[in-house]
Amino acid sequence: LIAFLLYLFYLVAPIGQLVEGAVQLQQGLAALKRIKEVEDLPGEPVAEPAATGGRPLGVRFDGVTFRYGDDRPVVHDEVSFEVPPGGLTALVGPSGAGKSTVFALLERFYEHQGGTISLDGRDIRDWPLGELRAALGYVEQDAPVLAGTLKENLLFAAPDATDDELLRAVARTRLDDLVSRLPDGLDTLVGHRGVLLSGGERQRVAIARALLRRPRLLLLDEATSQLDAVNELRLREVIAEVAAETTVLVIAHRLSTVTNADRIVVMEAGGVRAVGTHDELVGADELYRELAATQFLVS
Ligand code: ATP
Repeated sequence: LIAFLLYLFYLVAPIGQLVEGAVQLQQGLAALKRIKEVEDLPGEPVAEPAATGGRPLGVRFDGVTFRYGDDRPVVHDEVSFEVPPGGLTALVGPSGAGKSTVFALLERFYEHQGGTISLDGRDIRDWPLGELRAALGYVEQDAPVLAGTLKENLLFAAPDATDDELLRAVARTRLDDLVSRLPDGLDTLVGHRGVLLSGGERQRVAIARALLRRPRLLLLDEATSQLDAVNELRLREVIAEVAAETTVLVIAHRLSTVTNADRIVVMEAGGVRAVGTHDELVGADELYRELAATQFLVS
């Protein structure tokens, strides 16, 4: 029986590796397809992304409409809102409201059909695509950690960053605790072949990675994974600190991370229904009040 079980193990183990390999291949192909789609977009050629630094960007949506395909428009309500340079602006609203679509339009993965989107007072269509992408930082929801060391993960998009810049990004994203706990510090292997990072840590690694490119506008899709109280507090501190230096637009799934935002844009069914601070919206917008109540922020 033991010999049979051993035989079974030898049979199954390579299959597991094959499946893992196939999943990695599939993920790689999906990433390549996305790159190809971006390259195929009409308009300006994509220049080499470069660290731009510079002033925080202001953003303005003016009567913007958009549809993904031939069916009903997604952003239908002539979406208008304004984000002055710097500070923290949150997009909130139920699933399907159009929050991610706003990000996709800002990154020019899609072209809006009506109205105007401007960045720094300049029509987004007049921005060379390479310059636009270099000015934006994007932190995705539940960002993956790449196989490699923590340092490689951080320098992935900014290989020329200096050690000082790296340490500053680590400090700004409150990752220094993590680094001091890891056996080889920044040279520790992370990801599924190394130390597994929590959802909150992964998101802060992704923020640090984005900051090293010195974006003028940081688009942050907040992690949906459950964060413990400490990680949630850290994320809130990090977002506030980054927003002191650059413009931050965050899709917030937990209102607790953005109650201190300079402005909150409440979206519903492809339109903007209200804009204000947490206190203003709790008083003035029923949907926001409901969202806040379900998250125990108001009674
Ligand atoms: P969530 O919080 O669930 O991410 P959201 O507010 O970000 O939602 P969007 O992802 O912007 O909402 O989606 C808005 C609408 O557009 C939804 O009806 C969605 O099904 C549709 N949609 C999103 N992406 C595409 C796409 N690539 N092609 C077609 N329709 C899409």
